[in-house]
Amino acid sequence: METNYTVLARKYRSQDFESLIGQDVLVKTLTTAINTGRIAHAYIFTGIRGTGKTSTARILAKALNCLSFDHATSKPCCECENCRAIAAGQHIDVMEIDAASHTGVDNMREILDAALYRPTNARYKVYIIDEVHMLSTSAFNALLKTLEEPPAHVIFILATTEIRKVPVTILSRCQRFDLARVPVETLKKHFAWVASQEQIELSDGANELLARAADGSVRDGLSLLDQAIAQTGGHVDEGAVLDMLKRTDRGTVVNFMKTVLSGDVNAALTKLDEIYNNGADLTMLLNDMMEWTHWATRMYPSLRLQDATSSPYTADQRETIKKINENISLNTLSRIWQVMVAAVSELQASSNQKQCFDMLIVRLIHIADMPSIPELLKQNNVPEQKPEIKPEPEKKQQFLEIKTTDDLMRALQDTRELLLYSYYTSNLEILEFEVGKIKYFDRKGDKDFSQKLTLWLKDKTNQNWTIERIENDPHNKTISEQIKSEIEADPMVSSAMDLFEDAELVNISK
Ligand SMILES: [Zn+2]
Repeated sequence: METNYTVLARKYRSQDFESLIGQDVLVKTLTTAINTGRIAHAYIFTGIRGTGKTSTARILAKALNCLSFDHATSKPCCECENCRAIAAGQHIDVMEIDAASHTGVDNMREILDAALYRPTNARYKVYIIDEVHMLSTSAFNALLKTLEEPPAHVIFILATTEIRKVPVTILSRCQRFDLARVPVETLKKHFAWVASQEQIELSDGANELLARAADGSVRDGLSLLDQAIAQTGGHVDEGAVLDMLKRTDRGTVVNFMKTVLSGDVNAALTKLDEIYNNGADLTMLLNDMMEWTHWATRMYPSLRLQDATSSPYTADQRETIKKINENISLNTLSRIWQVMVAAVSELQASSNQKQCFDMLIVRLIHIADMPSIPELLKQNNVPEQKPEIKPEPEKKQQFLEIKTTDDLMRALQDTRELLLYSYYTSNLEILEFEVGKIKYFDRKGDKDFSQKLTLWLKDKTNQNWTIERIENDPHNKTISEQIKSEIEADPMVSSAMDLFEDAELVNISK
């Protein structure tokens, strides 16, 4: 590598509005304003890192001070003394201040005092304050004073990644521009262009990976490209980038998820070992698995979302995901997601990531294996309720006939209302039971129970029930106790009990 190598992000920094990447709205608004002479005294640019806030600030400073025109212009020449000095960050009237290292009020006062003097070589004195949210409260107050009555020749350009930390009083004095995250396609186009300028080979697959890893930031993407060029000597292909990012390629991730969701623990752990031994970063792998889960959910047939093609997967991989989706419920996908979200912090906190990941895989397989609630209902021959919003054709609900305590218990069991069932049998002393009316004493006194039971009965029998809870314990037996004493009274059981002196009847299952 040459010693005077300029990093790509600096070398290809946008020099004019036209070459700003992915900020069409901002460019249009700002150039129109400049062309019609509407120049504000303060601007604030916000957006994630590497989207071009500082570049835009410098271009704006050039636009205000270009010597090729006798007024502000949306097309600065980039050639004159002012344009070049500003581009290099060396113009005497264009001050770039990093708020992170000038947080104090004294710094700010000094800077603002200087603002009173007229510019030396430019039309406007321009203050570019980067990461402005880092200023102290008193520094903000000092800045606010100047913003309230700015000298005619002063323009402030504030930039921040965290707009919410900037006081509203400051914001209200600024024209605000939000720099968008740059879309993958736009980044790809830009990186391909940079590659051609640099005369290096950049395969489409590698470019795609870089653009996605950049996550909307031109600068981050170009830094990665720098790194990839350094590592490959200029032949950047998918394998090299995967290696550099310690990423597993999507095809492998899709197949790995297929193995995991097939429920074969042995195969899944073997596959994981293989991926791990190939040098994969497990945090990245988890990331990719979450990406898979997110897209499998978006592609789930009953959701009918039309955006499968905008997923990062190839047609073949999408086909595989579609097949997996046929055997998995939306509910399971959502549970898988929850477990993965929890695993993110577990993985970070763990001193042995591989161990942690092994256990994660086992948990995921367990979830995929577990029948969902509708499946459980199906196994118990209760008609499944389809989550689809489709008006059921006039189908009458079958209501249950409940005449006795035994009917009720059976119905509770059949509908898997096991909590109600066990509460009913072990805590209630039933005093009266007839259709539409139950009178009981509740040993535990859970007030919610009677309401739950009333609602359940209404729902299942299509009939109103009066559930009366009496206050004083009549010292009757609960249903469990009745069953127990019946069993104890059985001659077989009682002789068995007699035989073993300490024997006790503890659990009865029918
Ligand atoms: Zn110029």
